[in-house]
Amino acid sequence: MEKINDVVCIEGLGMDSNSYILDNIIVDTGTGLNQDYLYSKLADLKIEKDDIEMIVNTHSHYDHTGGNYLFSNAKVAIHELDAPAIEHENDPLTASAIFHHDLKRHDVDLKIKDGDKIGNFKVIHTPGHTPGGISLWDEEILISGDTVFADGGFGRLDIGGDHDDMERSLNKLRRLDVKYLLPGHGHWTDNGKEHIETSYNSFTNYF
Ligand SMILES: [Zn+2]
Ligand SMILES: [Zn+2]
Repeated sequence: MEKINDVVCIEGLGMDSNSYILDNIIVDTGTGLNQDYLYSKLADLKIEKDDIEMIVNTHSHYDHTGGNYLFSNAKVAIHELDAPAIEHENDPLTASAIFHHDLKRHDVDLKIKDGDKIGNFKVIHTPGHTPGGISLWDEEILISGDTVFADGGFGRLDIGGDHDDMERSLNKLRRLDVKYLLPGHGHWTDNGKEHIETSYNSFTNYF
């Protein structure tokens, strides 16, 4: 685990997304298949699972939302366009079938949209990987979900994605002065702006 400013970074195990902890908020909960691992990481931080007050899902996919049930005291926040997917059982937009696991439906307490605030972070709507994908931005750190990864990666388009939306979202993110990029998978990094520029270029060259 590593702490970047006030954000604790927990590397995803197996197919799990990374999770990020901002005080009593967890951003993405992984698949839920590795609960002992996730709880032990929280225990290292002296955080009980019941202390988590809010879950923010960067998007509806199973590898980011499957662990929501692990935090029964937490309210769930997700963009209004991805909320319906997790409110239904095994909705195609959760990609649970691709992961060969069931995803039970989950109530959504807070349907968020572009410009909303989560703690000190601003919500940026970044569709392209899913219709309701979001990134979180505090003028230094970008938590990017599966929109953009380190080393020039970007999210796949074939599970609810859209090419033109992705191009617009990457173009939006490359304008930010991102110092730390904290993506949904793989390693987090400084020099975030350069990594996002590489992602934008590989996207536009690839398609
Ligand atoms: Zn995804
Ligand atoms: Zn993912």
